[in-house]
Amino acid sequence: MSIGIVGTGISGLHLALRLRQFGIDATLYTAQGPDDIRSGPPLNFVTRFDSTRERESALGVTEWSSPAYDNAWMHLHLEGPDGFSFRGRLPKPASSVDFRMYLAALLEEYQRRGGDPVHLRVADRAGLDRLAERHELVVVAAGRGALTDVFPRDDARSPYRSAPRRLAGGLFHGVRPPEPAGMTMHMVPGAGEIHAPTYHSFAGQVTAVLVEAVPDGPFAELTGRDHRGDPDGFAKEVLALVTAHAPALRERVDEQDFALARPVDLLQGAVVPVVRRGWAALAGGRYALAVGDAWIANDPLTAQGANLGSELAFLLADVLRAHTGRYDEAFCRAASERMWQRAQPVVDFTNLFIGPPPAHLGTLLGTAAADQRVADAFVAHLDRPAAMWRGLASPEGTDAFIARAQTVRSAA
Ligand SMILES: Cc1cc2nc3c(=O)[nH]c(=O)nc-3n(C[C@H](O)[C@H](O)[C@H](O)COP(=O)(O)OP(=O)(O)OC[C@H]3O[C@@H](n4cnc5c(N)ncnc54)[C@H](O)[C@@H]3O)c2cc1C
Repeated sequence: MSIGIVGTGISGLHLALRLRQFGIDATLYTAQGPDDIRSGPPLNFVTRFDSTRERESALGVTEWSSPAYDNAWMHLHLEGPDGFSFRGRLPKPASSVDFRMYLAALLEEYQRRGGDPVHLRVADRAGLDRLAERHELVVVAAGRGALTDVFPRDDARSPYRSAPRRLAGGLFHGVRPPEPAGMTMHMVPGAGEIHAPTYHSFAGQVTAVLVEAVPDGPFAELTGRDHRGDPDGFAKEVLALVTAHAPALRERVDEQDFALARPVDLLQGAVVPVVRRGWAALAGGRYALAVGDAWIANDPLTAQGANLGSELAFLLADVLRAHTGRYDEAFCRAASERMWQRAQPVVDFTNLFIGPPPAHLGTLLGTAAADQRVADAFVAHLDRPAAMWRGLASPEGTDAFIARAQTVRSAA
């Protein structure tokens, strides 16, 4: 008897690799082999912050540690007549690597270490019931797909019923990195956001341009159509939108070269932010426990979901190592509650960013534009969601955040 893990995204793979390090018996179920993952369309445009990179070091996964994949700076532009810009430096660089490369390599690493993933798409609850005959606990790390139905939505923790943004983006040639190199975000009031991190993919260094469209706003037309049959037309529309709404990004574009790196490098979709109940009863008195996007889905605006999935995988591995009794409902409830302590600030901070901006968020960003110490603190806190949320939850919290940033940095 052992633990079954369904899904080979970052949540499932970090958990499986960690349990292997701990010598805990687990079986990983994967719907896709490494080559399937590599050959598909982009899954996301993930930037991994230093905390996640530290966990990769702890796992002994060093493949993505090269500075060539580093993004140390975040540039934020509030577009429009009252707009402003700032840039902040992360204390330690983030890394932006195509997840098709990253996850395929992690899965191969798991196999190199003696793991023997079982190729199986678990279709539904009945499939999980069958796994429960083989495993004392089934961890569901299957992302936002079919198995989420097993975990009911937690209304109290889920303010959205529909996607607050629609997404369209791709990996593009023809965009110069910003100075200094890193990630950029252009916030366009009433329309949404355009992200443009420098990104490492199959074609080498490219730029991931991601448009987040407010439904019915001026970006919605781009995100409302299926562009898979027309990659060149898609690139033209993205360029037109950048030209109209994000002048600093437009300056970095060479129109002649601006094109999708490969026709497949196109992503469209939407995320309905949701928190689910973290566990479900299966047949025979066994339980399923949800982690990562299978449990909590966040809009990508704040670049948190994969970083959180990794963090929760490590936390869950510690909980499993320390546990000696049965994996019953009390265990699942307690494990889920411990994970929620870490996840809640991410959910709250992301939902605040995605919603109508409160005045104190404007104060924080405006102060960052005028004071480099606050800009650096804001950017550093993308990797410290609990402290970020303390600084955003109320006007008083924001005042304290700003005061602390100004004191700490001037004393340094
Ligand atoms: C455009 C975009 C940009 C993003 N940018 C960032 C960012 O910068 N930083 C960040 O931290 N996060 C970001 N995110 C969020 C991030 O991608 C997700 O939160 C994270 O990848 C979720 O990982 P996961 O392992 O929980 O799930 P997934 O990555 O969805 O993995 C699920 C796995 O389960 C498998 N699976 C699915 N169904 C089944 C089944 N029925 N049976 C068996 N296996 C199954 C899948 O094949 C896959 O291997 C972004 C998301 C998007 C869409």
